Amino acid sequence: MTSLLVLIVSVSILITATLGYFKLYEVTAANSSVRIDRAARAAAALFADRLASEFAAIRDEDGRPQALRLKGSDTAKALSFRDAHDTLLKEIGAINQGAANLFRLNAETQAFDRFATTFRKPDGSMPPPMSIGIMHPAYDNLINNRPHLGEVPVMGRMRLAYLTPIQAASGAIAGALAVDVGWVDDLVAAKNELRLQIIIASSLILALVAAFGAFSMGAELKPLRVLAKYADDLAAGAPSGAVPYRSRGDEIGALAQGLERVVALQRKLAHLAYTDTLTGLSNRGRYLNDLDTALAESLSGKRKWTLVHLDLDKFRQINDAYGQKTGDDLLKTVATRIKEAAGDGVRIARLSGDHFTVLIGDGRPAEDVSELARKMLTAIHQPVQLSAGEFRVTGSAGIVLLKHDAKDADEAHRNAGLALRKAKAKGDRAVFFSSELYDEFQNNIRMERMLRLAIHEREIEIHFQPQIDPSTNQLAGVEALARWTHPVEGPVPPGLFIPIAENSGQIVDLGTLILDLACEQAAKWREKNFDFKHISVNVSPIQLWQPNFVAVVKDALKRHNLSGNEICIEITEGVFVDQSEQRIEKVLSAIRELGVLLSLDDFGTGYSSLGYLNRLPFDQLKVDRSFISDIDTDLRKQKVLRGILELSRGLGFNIVIEGAETGEEVAVIRDMGCDAIQGFYYSRPAPALLIPEVVKFIARSQPVSEVRSA
Ligand code: C2E
Ligand code: CA
Ligand code: CA
Repeated sequence: MTSLLVLIVSVSILITATLGYFKLYEVTAANSSVRIDRAARAAAALFADRLASEFAAIRDEDGRPQALRLKGSDTAKALSFRDAHDTLLKEIGAINQGAANLFRLNAETQAFDRFATTFRKPDGSMPPPMSIGIMHPAYDNLINNRPHLGEVPVMGRMRLAYLTPIQAASGAIAGALAVDVGWVDDLVAAKNELRLQIIIASSLILALVAAFGAFSMGAELKPLRVLAKYADDLAAGAPSGAVPYRSRGDEIGALAQGLERVVALQRKLAHLAYTDTLTGLSNRGRYLNDLDTALAESLSGKRKWTLVHLDLDKFRQINDAYGQKTGDDLLKTVATRIKEAAGDGVRIARLSGDHFTVLIGDGRPAEDVSELARKMLTAIHQPVQLSAGEFRVTGSAGIVLLKHDAKDADEAHRNAGLALRKAKAKGDRAVFFSSELYDEFQNNIRMERMLRLAIHEREIEIHFQPQIDPSTNQLAGVEALARWTHPVEGPVPPGLFIPIAENSGQIVDLGTLILDLACEQAAKWREKNFDFKHISVNVSPIQLWQPNFVAVVKDALKRHNLSGNEICIEITEGVFVDQSEQRIEKVLSAIRELGVLLSLDDFGTGYSSLGYLNRLPFDQLKVDRSFISDIDTDLRKQKVLRGILELSRGLGFNIVIEGAETGEEVAVIRDMGCDAIQGFYYSRPAPALLIPEVVKFIARSQPVSEVRSA
């Protein structure tokens, strides 16, 4: 671009300069020829006038001198130096403002030798001799008796001169009169100077144009450079501020506007990529980015960040029962509530399902974070109006102080998860992560490993607890209860290892093992003619919903050659969570078809309705110990139990009361009427070996109410 400009300017300067130069040359040349023509005429005229006796001027039609003819015959004398010649030449020179010279043809050398001249030295002496030889530009014309007009070398430089031949009286060439014009000379010199000046000026202008071009191009390219840098930053993901030059109307403006559209598009894409479409909160990707930043700032001490993990309790149940649309609507409302409760300066994300995270970076103290977490949970807990009806959900929160309790994102996430799990387990809603929680977590992992080994090595045993008919003290059945004694740790209670087994998925193998052990024991007792009635085996929900569960039971019965009614399966109401009645009905019926008895354990602690239970094929209800303890002194409890018993009896269930520890409790229960009592009053769970003796002992002792009335 600039080079093109420079080229155009150079060419135009060159053309202008050349044209000017030629014009000047033309004018100069025209002036010179006019002047030299006049000088020649004047010189010839003066010769013909002043030395009329010696010279005659021969002219062409235009009056231009063609020759000077000598009148006398003594050519040599006429063409020798004389004062008259000298004076005349001086006069001619003065008139012409130039030089004048007289030449004589040397017959020997055939050159024209100068014999008079206006070029005198300052002291008046003659300059060095000079000849017009064969090499002289005028020679050819002169020797052929013709006048010569043109540039000739004079005293070291070229001058425009007019040389008039001098002829002998015979007309033969004999010499020459040369005149030149000083003014013409100056003109030529000026012309040369002008040429030099034009060259200098052109070069100067050219240099200036080039410099200006480079500068103006630099200035003109600046916006492009700025925009290119902006685009670069944009590509690197860190554009600084708004796109510059947007309001310009030229191509730069158009470019900037294009770039602005790219920025908008990038923003939109980033928004889409980092937004949870359902709630409009940040998504998991954004959360992970934010968490990284928060961790870096926390660890460097720049800012204190706290991470809160929130989730809803039993959200899946709502989703399953009312459909995804209702679930989604609920999540949207919950998101809004969390946002409102959290206030400004926090970063909220939904990771998946009902898992929300809140990053708090204002450095508030732990108590305030806890208060904020509770505030969010309270907001979540407010009734939600949806098209499917009114809902009331609870949430839990796990809190991690990033500076203390996390060195990287994984740890932060895990610790928040641990605290959340603890919150759910404790029902305490908002729990801070602590190193004890981590120890517990580590211990759980250790226990899981140990339990796996124990199952593999069949280190698990079962103890049995008799169920006694309180009116006759006869055995009604026994419950198999899992026992684990670790070689180093000692006995581990089932309340501890059963949940570990359930959480780690080992419950399936463990349950299968226990069922097998129970069936094995049943077969042994039958062989020994001990009438155990039936062995009740606890089955966890995870086990029950295994597709092959019925087959596993059938297989165990077959292996030990048992009939179905020698085994009773105990399930809790927890089994019904998240399941359709149809599916429950299907599995339970399949179990009943094997002849196996079905018992509902911990009755009264769950949420199932009696009507619902009546439609399911249960044989037995086991009333939970919480209804029994201190029943002899608690009249309200007595009323409740009486109600439960009447209803269940009405529905035809076999009833077992759990956890009676004292004679007083047993007496009250017995009076209300039930089929069996399973409690420490009669016997603690004991190894199989002891059970026949224990049962014999109980049968021999007197039933309770008789003891009391006695
Ligand atoms: P559960 O099925 O309700 O079993 C009855 C629990 O009550 C047993 O505790 C038993 O020792 C205890 N118990 C019986 N009579 C009394 C009493 O008079 N007073 C008191 N305070 N407690 C009494 P255990 O053996 O510690 O078992 C606890 C729970 O662990 C069981 O509750 C059951 O849910 C679970 N469990 C035990 N064995 C197994 C098993 O083989 N499989 C499964 N899935 N769960 C089992
Ligand atoms: Ca049980
Ligand atoms: Ca129970």
